[in-house]
Amino acid sequence: LLQSTLCRLKEKVRDIPDFPKKGVLFRDITPLIGDGQFFRLVMMIFLERYQRRKIDKIAAIDARGFIFAGALAHILGIGLIPIRKKGKLPYQTFETQYASEYGLNTLTIHRDAMRKGEQVLILDDVLATGGTAEAAAKLVESCGGSLVELGFLMELRGLKGKERLSRYPVYSILQFP
Ligand code: AMP
Repeated sequence: LLQSTLCRLKEKVRDIPDFPKKGVLFRDITPLIGDGQFFRLVMMIFLERYQRRKIDKIAAIDARGFIFAGALAHILGIGLIPIRKKGKLPYQTFETQYASEYGLNTLTIHRDAMRKGEQVLILDDVLATGGTAEAAAKLVESCGGSLVELGFLMELRGLKGKERLSRYPVYSILQFP
């Protein structure tokens, strides 16, 4: 990928200091996904990376992960599995508590979301501390899924999420300090 293309993509991410709480520099993807050419570019990059891999399901992390996972599942014709915050999924669930950049939270997945041994790709928008993604990976494993990779639009390097997820393959299109 051209460095200039990645720079243009990065410029579409808007920084919002102290959101949703003091001390957090929020990386807002709405300018990027609000521009059809840039959104498409992101999806083409994900497509290029994953179209030749054996993937049975794409798991999407609540809520901005749904945007990219939904689009990729559609292009690849692969089933989509929502991993959601507690209280949102209607059927029987597995759940995992975790600490994220914002505080304590619980993620859930439907117990019958996948069959044992299925190859699962997890997608989200931002890798920060990695707490959320680690919880999502554990949930996929609870269901018997085998993790292909954790894919992100961007990684916030300073929060060391990649180190926390060192047991898993991790990919991000953009890297921020
Ligand atoms: P973490 O568990 O700390 O890696 O946080 C990742 C989750 O929180 C992802 O679902 C992100 O959407 C969101 N998130 C955490 N930090 C930020 C940030 N600085 N900017 C935007 N989203 C963030």
